Amino acid sequence: MSEATRIEENVTCLGCGCACDDIAVVIAGARIREARNACTLGVRWFGDGSLPGAISGGRSAAIEDVLREIASLLRSARAPLVYLAPDLTCEAQGAAIAIADQLRAFVDGVTSSTSADGILAAQRRGRASATLGEIRNRADVVVFWAVDPAASYPRFQSRYAPNPVGVYLPQGRRDRTVIAVDVGAQRGPADADVRIQMTAEEEQLFLASLRASLAGRALGNQSIAARVTELATRLNKARYSVVVTDAESPPSVPSGRADSLIALTQSLNATTRCSLCSLRAGGNRNGADTVLTWHTGFPMAVDFSRGAPRYTPGNAAGARLAHGDCDAALIVGNTNAIPTVVREALGATRIVVIGPRASESTLSAQIRIDTGVAGIHESGMSLRLDDIPLPVRAVLPTPRDTASLLDALGSAIAAQGASA
Ligand code: SF4
Repeated sequence: MSEATRIEENVTCLGCGCACDDIAVVIAGARIREARNACTLGVRWFGDGSLPGAISGGRSAAIEDVLREIASLLRSARAPLVYLAPDLTCEAQGAAIAIADQLRAFVDGVTSSTSADGILAAQRRGRASATLGEIRNRADVVVFWAVDPAASYPRFQSRYAPNPVGVYLPQGRRDRTVIAVDVGAQRGPADADVRIQMTAEEEQLFLASLRASLAGRALGNQSIAARVTELATRLNKARYSVVVTDAESPPSVPSGRADSLIALTQSLNATTRCSLCSLRAGGNRNGADTVLTWHTGFPMAVDFSRGAPRYTPGNAAGARLAHGDCDAALIVGNTNAIPTVVREALGATRIVVIGPRASESTLSAQIRIDTGVAGIHESGMSLRLDDIPLPVRAVLPTPRDTASLLDALGSAIAAQGASA
């Protein structure tokens, strides 16, 4: 190995919500050459670490002037939007939310388009959750409900469940029963011990019948009775079961699933132990929800226009933009991960992008400032999919630090307010 090569150990990957913190990043010539231990998704997320460092679209090349220009653009808006895209540290998310507060803007992020059902259901019902460590150490029955983590959360099974040895599962996989629940084309892992299949149309009836069976009530619908009884029996016999579901649901998933799975896992705690594990995609999405909750009490879709935070999950960024209710948008983070519904609704809105590869974004933004990726070029805090905080650290220099830049933008906005 040449002298110029260095290895950063125990780096956290934000390629998906698993946030694996055992990655060894090999760097040579200011490029990432290898991300050891990372899955293919993680290797892709790290890439080679190269980034543009441009500032484009402003009337001046000096960053102070560009920040003043952005401040003026946002302050002149009737109804500004601050949008949190992925790949930000919690510190950068906090700085962006502070700007939304200053501007009396509407603040939202990708969660409203991808994971709102599960969050709203948990707010209605509460939620029996667990850390991934608890699942790893205790879960002897693992139910994958319409999800195979192999595609989007590739190391979930090897790091958390069912494969690893746990405190109460000394033989690892051999001590656990894996149940795949296939709902239509959404299939669980191929190597499950038990497979239960249903059509998408049957799912809600199946879940209602499962809860009825667990409560000791007779099942009316004989077409699903045998499958319901089998799953109910296995869940009841478990010392500790976990139901794993994909919180990043495609639009085709019926909205009742999240609510029914919460109800199921809660009712199982009357007789045994059960938790619900909601898988989230990468880029510190749980961080965005949590930091927004710290600031406002709400995890998404927060309206500051009345001077105090107001929760409007039924009128999120996509809908507001589509109705022409936002006339300027500050988008912070990786614009490649913005859901199509929001991307298309941005239309003719005046846009400022601050984030990694902002200068290459396909959004028609007036001003773009390149910054770094959380966990590759920028240090700070992130949250794993179970809301456990994990530090991330820069292994390469950033073109400019997102949180510091947003703090400076906040100061520019405040200065213009004071002089107005
Ligand atoms: S499972 Fe997720 S967090 Fe872990 S290495 Fe793969 S992409 Fe990164």
